[in-house]
Amino acid sequence: MIHTAVLKKEVLEYLDPKQNENFVDCTVGEGGHSEDILKKNGPEGKVLGIDLDPHQIGAAQWLHVQFKDRIILVNDSYANLTEIIERKEFGPVNGILLDLGMSSAQLEAAQKGFSFQIDQGLDMRYNDEGGYTLTAEKIVNEYPEEKIAEILEEYGEEKFAKKIAKNIVEQRKQGRIKTTFQLIEIIKDATPSAYWRGKIHYATRTFQAIRIAVNDELENVKRVLPQAISILASEGRLAVISFHSLEDRIVKNFFASESKTTHGVPRIKILTKKPITASRDELSKNPRSRSAKLRVAVKI
Ligand code: SAH
Repeated sequence: MIHTAVLKKEVLEYLDPKQNENFVDCTVGEGGHSEDILKKNGPEGKVLGIDLDPHQIGAAQWLHVQFKDRIILVNDSYANLTEIIERKEFGPVNGILLDLGMSSAQLEAAQKGFSFQIDQGLDMRYNDEGGYTLTAEKIVNEYPEEKIAEILEEYGEEKFAKKIAKNIVEQRKQGRIKTTFQLIEIIKDATPSAYWRGKIHYATRTFQAIRIAVNDELENVKRVLPQAISILASEGRLAVISFHSLEDRIVKNFFASESKTTHGVPRIKILTKKPITASRDELSKNPRSRSAKLRVAVKI
């Protein structure tokens, strides 16, 4: 499936790229949002596109064909934003976009085990090169029961966290748990049948939780936000799209504290009192937009 960028119109409206302005797309993916920006910020404006997944950087190469050296692609984590900007001598920065989570292409890509609809090895790393050694298989087979329960509770808000963790530890005594389908069976076995008929698949929360833990996703979001504000030029815009309540809460709280005057001079002004969500039209066309929430702030 080809990835369709979410909230395209809304992101463009808020980032409002003008001639020759520069932007950082912290999650360039297949380049949907970067393309929209590059169409607006010519003839000299640039986009620095970052992605942790080397395959996604491959998928974004087409942007060079159309926009030549106005697009700069970097395979790294946005958690290292300041360092990347310095290394690339990029700036001034007029806007920064974070489209968190993963793309449909990654969900279906071979051998990562992100999807519970395909039987694959339990990996879940966005980057399986570059020294990232923690995998889903390692968590499931080597973490203590309490730690697994905590991950499922905290990152998945899974109400059967303890039961699932207990069953994982029980089952791994028979042999290493290696595949997504094995894990799904274990989750099924640990939960009541009413849960199997719920609106979302009964493995959704466990898979989300393990993926967040493997990639340290919430910590990365916490790390990048203050860097983004520091990097932005005055009047620069920061747009963040999140896909679940844990991420959205981090963004919301960060914006709230940075826009307050209680601790001195506020650094940002919030442009979205309430998060922007997808229009009915987009919802009908792109299921990934269902849980998307966009928050935008402008640097003072
Ligand atoms: N806006 C993109 C889609 C982004 S999907 C488009 O229009 O195509 C989210 C992307 O974030 C994925 O490609 C994923 O690999 C990337 N990602 C996840 N964690 C990251 C991190 N810590 N640093 C950089 N990129 C990350």
